[in-house]
Amino acid sequence: MTEPSRPQTNLLSLTEAQMAALVHGFGWPGYRTGQILRWLYQRRARTIGQMTDLSQKDREQLSEIATIRRTRDCVVLESADGTRKLLLTLDDGLRIETVLIPEEDRLTLCVSTQVGCMLDCGFCLTGTMGLKRNLKAHEIVDQVLTAQDHLTGEERLTNLVFMGMGEPLANIEALSAAIHCLTNKSWGLGWSPRRITVSTAGLAARLNDVAALGVNLAISLNGTTEEQRRQLMPAVSQIASLKTLMAACRRYPLAPTRRLTFEYVLLAGVNDRDEDARRLVTLLKGIRCKMNLIPFNEFPGSAYRRPTDRNVLSFQRLLTQAGIDAFIRKSRGRDVLGACGQLGKVPAGAASVALTQIESRC
Ligand code: SAH
Repeated sequence: MTEPSRPQTNLLSLTEAQMAALVHGFGWPGYRTGQILRWLYQRRARTIGQMTDLSQKDREQLSEIATIRRTRDCVVLESADGTRKLLLTLDDGLRIETVLIPEEDRLTLCVSTQVGCMLDCGFCLTGTMGLKRNLKAHEIVDQVLTAQDHLTGEERLTNLVFMGMGEPLANIEALSAAIHCLTNKSWGLGWSPRRITVSTAGLAARLNDVAALGVNLAISLNGTTEEQRRQLMPAVSQIASLKTLMAACRRYPLAPTRRLTFEYVLLAGVNDRDEDARRLVTLLKGIRCKMNLIPFNEFPGSAYRRPTDRNVLSFQRLLTQAGIDAFIRKSRGRDVLGACGQLGKVPAGAASVALTQIESRC
């Protein structure tokens, strides 16, 4: 195959309709659209040459104008607890992170939606980077494909959470297109939307967009008064007040068998007191929900502290006694800065911080 002179289309960047138009342009039968898409997403082909149910001539024709460009230089940082942080390099050289979190009965992938974040939540490392840019839909899907490439033996992904770098609802178009591709059963990855969760810092006006996607919604509450949220999450509080956010949660078109998830980062002496728990109970009254408590994960230079286990448990107890299902999120991958709020930087002196493996692949 000859080296092309003009920039080639990345097949992964095409929507189903655009792929159909490309196929039509070649004068090929319509079913070829599904064939190519299945090669991309179900078989994770990295070259057009691999598409062996296309004739050699068709593959050559396609290669003249198109290519498959996946993320590059995947570096894997493996935590002592088995969590694996994947550092991926995008086409323009920027880097993103995606985290594989194995638990007893599940294997969750924590996916990024932006490079950096435009929000400035004071407890989150990603926020200190600022927003570099939105991810494109295929860059979001690529994280899942690359994670799958790295699974070993019996491993299968069971859950996807959009809780990596960035604010998913600030990149809703690419997020929607990515979820469409992830859930498409005919040529896509065939995920059930029930196994996918989108987390927002509180872009209240966009909650219904999540409902339309059929996936689960998580809301990072983190504060129980307007003032507390303004202090901890200034930018998002300007977009929507706590009152507006809670009203949007109450209006949320929740399917009868589902419930909302609320997340609450516990910061020692700041929002982990008994009075905070009591206000939380009042705020959530009448909402079908569960609560994930996340003890603060420290990072170099962080201004907050992690509460003691005793305080975390007593906060949880106050909620459960009031009838709220509250779970404590185990911190995973802290030694590789792979836990909640720690994405954005490769740990300094990575080799010395309990890393069991640094591997370069792709
Ligand atoms: N922007 C989205 C998703 C990314 S953050 C959101 O805010 O929901 C995913 C979760 O990690 C959020 O609930 C956030 O509040 C929490 N988080 C951020 N920094 C953290 C930290 N240092 N320790 C513990 N949890 C943190």
